Order: sequence, then structure tokens, then C-alpha cells
Amino acid sequence: MGVGRFAPSPTGQLHLGNLRTAILAWLFARSTGRQCLLRIEDLDRVRSGAEEEQLSELASIGLEFDAPVVRQSDRLSSYLEAIESLREKGLVFECFCTRKDISGAASAPHAAPGAYPGTCRNLTAEERAARAQQRPAALRLRSAVDQFTIQDELFGSYTGVVDDFVLLRNDGSPAYNLAVVVDDGAYGIDQVVRGDDLLSSAPRQAYLAQLLGLPIPTYAHVPLALNVQGQRLAKRDGAVTLEDLSEKGLNGAQIRAYLLESLGLPGTSLQAALDAFKPSDLPREPWVVEPEFIVDQLMPPASHNR
Ligand code: GLU
Repeated sequence: MGVGRFAPSPTGQLHLGNLRTAILAWLFARSTGRQCLLRIEDLDRVRSGAEEEQLSELASIGLEFDAPVVRQSDRLSSYLEAIESLREKGLVFECFCTRKDISGAASAPHAAPGAYPGTCRNLTAEERAARAQQRPAALRLRSAVDQFTIQDELFGSYTGVVDDFVLLRNDGSPAYNLAVVVDDGAYGIDQVVRGDDLLSSAPRQAYLAQLLGLPIPTYAHVPLALNVQGQRLAKRDGAVTLEDLSEKGLNGAQIRAYLLESLGLPGTSLQAALDAFKPSDLPREPWVVEPEFIVDQLMPPASHNR
């Protein structure tokens, strides 16, 4: 049996867009007979208490995940082992660049915009020792390709940049791309469903999976939630979390129904949505959220509680 996952970062409460992605991850997994794991991506940007809030928010819209809940902060040794195995194959180099060094460097001919310019790729041992006096090194992957193609349920075949991306940051913490790939591999995750802001990371991750001898998962990058200005939905946009909406009198089942209907699925139950779920019928456009409109739609006028 395969495994899917939802992997929130515990930076705060989940908003409607995050909950919609969670529902999609669950539907994609369950509709294909997969388990669905929850992974807390708590390597950085953690807000204390956010993990507990997110777990209870997912429960209150009725999503059940398979055990165990994985926490990245418990898995540091696995990330370091993976980096070590790459290092043994000569696939890792030390990089002393600051962000400014990278943005100011002339990029290599034909390099993709934003790709690492290769500054530290071929330093001599003496040069490395001299730079190490100035600042600690990050570790980067010595990539043999500059692009890689993945298959996505919604985007089809997608080719994107692979550069010498960071594996270990210079504060000693594993980078997002490395941790995701190691975890997906360790837990048998063969289906990755997440917001389409991460589509451009998928080629790097798939390439890294291949280098680590791990199977490449299938991907489904799903539309993000936006505010009416077309920006990524955020807490400042109004009543966008379950807590905000429950203060206005809405419960988890009503919100779940609203989210399912926004996906063109029946809102009556998760099972009904699962029965009707067909990836090819999903909306492909970003989901524009107007919090006031949601409350108006779901609450009978007399009971408005503002
Ligand atoms: N933790 C990431 C986020 O919340 C998702 C990472 C992933 O699904 O690979 O945006």
C-alpha cells in the first residue's frame, strides 16, 4: 500500500487555504487506497502551541490521519546520515556565500535565473580553510544536472531548475528540500500533495530522491487560496481560521462542507466527497477567499454575530 501525507509548518493556525490543501491530500491518498500521514515540519519558524492547534483544527474538520505523526525535529540524525551518504559519493561541497554574494555574482552562462552561481563549487582546500575563518559553511549538493522533469497529476509533465541547492544551512540545520526527501523516503510516501507554490521545488526534490536511491513520488500540486487582491491568503485577510469563523458562529462541519463545495465536491460528508473525487475534475485556478462572504453565505441573516 502506498502512502500520502499532509506536511504543515507549525507557524500558526491553519487557514482556509491550508485546510483545503489538507482535505485534498487526504482525498488523493484515500481515493487511491493509500495511508495518509501527518508530518509536522518544525525545523524552523515554529510558533509555540501551533502544532497542537493545527492537530485540533484538522480533527475538527473530521480529517483522520494514520499513525505516527512525524516531527522533523525528531529526525535530525536521519538528515545528517543522508548528507553523509552524499558526501561519501563526492556530491556535497562547502559554501561560504552570503545571500548578497549570491545575488551579486555573475551567473554562469545559460544558468537559470536565481540558480546558485557556482561560486564555492571548486574551491581549493586552502581557499576553503581561509573562508572558514570568516563564517561557517553551508553544505550544497553538487548537482550533475541543471533541470529535471517530474510528473504531476494536475500540471502533467513539469521540467524545472535543479541547481547546487543547500542541504545543510550554515547554522547546522537541515534544509527544507533535504528533510522532505529523506522523510518521504523513510515513510514510504509515494504521493506528494501540496500547494502549487512548491511546484518549482519538486524537480530538485525528485532529483535528490534519485541520488539517495529513493523512489520518486507522484505529485499533485494544488491551487493556492488567494485574497481578493490576488495575494496569498493570510491571517490579516479577516476571518480565515477555524477559530475566527467559530467566533462568528460557524462549526467545523460547515466549514468542511464549504471547502468541499469549493472543490466541486458534495459537502455532506468526507465519504460522499471521496466517492465523487476525480482529480481531473478539480478546479485549476487559485481559490479566491472573501471571508465576509463566507459568513454571509453560511449563516442565516438573523443570526449574524459580528
Ligand atoms: N511544510 C510545507 C508548507 O507548509 C509543505 C512542504 C511539503 O508539503 O513538501 O508549506
